[in-house]
Amino acid sequence: MILKNIAVIGAGASGMMAAIAAAENARVCLFEKNEFPGRKLLQTGNGKCNFLNESDPLPHFRGSLSDSGILSAVFEKYDRDRILRLFSSFGLLYHKKNGGYYPRSDSAASVNDILIEVLKDRGVLFHPQVQVKGIEKREGSFYLDLFHLKHNKRSKDETPFDAVIVATGGKAAPKTGSTGDGYYFAEKFGLSVARPLPALTRLLSPDPFFNDNTVRAYVSVKLFIDDSFSASSKGELQVNAGGPSGICIFDLSGRASRALKEGRSCRISVDFLPELEEDEVFSLLKKRADKIREEDPPTALFTGIFSERLSVNICEKLENLLFKGRSFHGILNDTLIKDVSNLIKNMCFEITGTGEFVISQVTSGGISAECLNPDLSSKKVPGLYFTGECLDADGDCGGFNLHFAWASGLTAGVAASA
Ligand SMILES: Cc1cc2nc3c(=O)[nH]c(=O)nc-3n(C[C@H](O)[C@H](O)[C@H](O)COP(=O)(O)OP(=O)(O)OC[C@H]3O[C@@H](n4cnc5c(N)ncnc54)[C@H](O)[C@@H]3O)c2cc1C
Repeated sequence: MILKNIAVIGAGASGMMAAIAAAENARVCLFEKNEFPGRKLLQTGNGKCNFLNESDPLPHFRGSLSDSGILSAVFEKYDRDRILRLFSSFGLLYHKKNGGYYPRSDSAASVNDILIEVLKDRGVLFHPQVQVKGIEKREGSFYLDLFHLKHNKRSKDETPFDAVIVATGGKAAPKTGSTGDGYYFAEKFGLSVARPLPALTRLLSPDPFFNDNTVRAYVSVKLFIDDSFSASSKGELQVNAGGPSGICIFDLSGRASRALKEGRSCRISVDFLPELEEDEVFSLLKKRADKIREEDPPTALFTGIFSERLSVNICEKLENLLFKGRSFHGILNDTLIKDVSNLIKNMCFEITGTGEFVISQVTSGGISAECLNPDLSSKKVPGLYFTGECLDADGDCGGFNLHFAWASGLTAGVAASA
């Protein structure tokens, strides 16, 4: 049997998985800019690698692949249990924490090392420190234009490849090597690319609430675009200078990024006591108001409820909005306490931007579903496949993006080598 020759560009999560799948039936060359595979993978989940989630991934994704049905086909075939079985067969021990799956060692290196071992076992030819600069298709075969970073030398590789899998990632965390080269390759072949934007990142707000006083609080957040509700999220909010951060903010950032790009207005509404109804907050604050003495600072209203740091920020906001310079003492009547309770449950902040790619975890946008078949091959260029973050699909925090990297890599790898 004559084996196919396949090139995989990019040794990130999706590229390694694509190479492993393709190598079952084909000869595979894996090209990577970095000296070693999985540079981004090693940073995931704060070095612990949250590589899957127990929930159905589909509702956690945005982008044209999720709207087109391609994403559901990919996840249906490679669902969580199938990926877990695969990693088990590779020899990875894992455990589940708060709905997310992690290697048993709690070290991302375990996942990376096991993938590298399987790549070797399956005879994948790894080409480190080689940047693919261009892909050409002549008479049914693909040829790569290579730049050897170690020798600072460009060369045209005359090896004909039957298929090429582009797994170059998006533009997020560019120091790890993902600098958007896949978009360039796609556009060169005339494929459409939805503008890449930062996602899973912080938001920017001009509100003075976001000052140098770094605070963390458990909240629920709603995102409004042009005053219409868009999405909500719960978790730890980090108050930093210039804007909010934290996982609950990350999960809303892709939507905000796209809306702001379209010139639409964005705001978030934060509920600082999501576990209580507004009338319960009112009763709580009324009890506190009765205890406040003349010499107490305004933050005494929140003693036992919020941390001192958060109370300071909230009091500044209340001062600006409700008290306008007056002291809290003696003016806290029922109407005012009602207003304060309402504000604690719905504190609004204008959002004017998002973090840059350098501090973002994923990319929103990418190669559009309209130019792809369900097996992630190009409709226009047979034999050209795309996987992972370079595609127009971005997921929430919690292992969903890596699930897509594994599942899309397997889809393309199996199809390309068939
Ligand atoms: C800090 C951080 C934490 C994260 N944590 C999690 C998490 O816990 N769980 C989760 O699900 N997701 C997480 N993510 C997101 C997840 O890591 C990515 O979505 C996923 O790794 C994307 O995989 P990929 O293979 O598509 O791209 P990448 O991992 O970006 O890999 C692309 C590879 O291609 C190489 N490359 C690019 N261009 C070329 C070229 N022209 N020639 C040769 N090689 C090239 C790059 O060097 C890179 O190694 C995190 C991301 C970051 C930045």
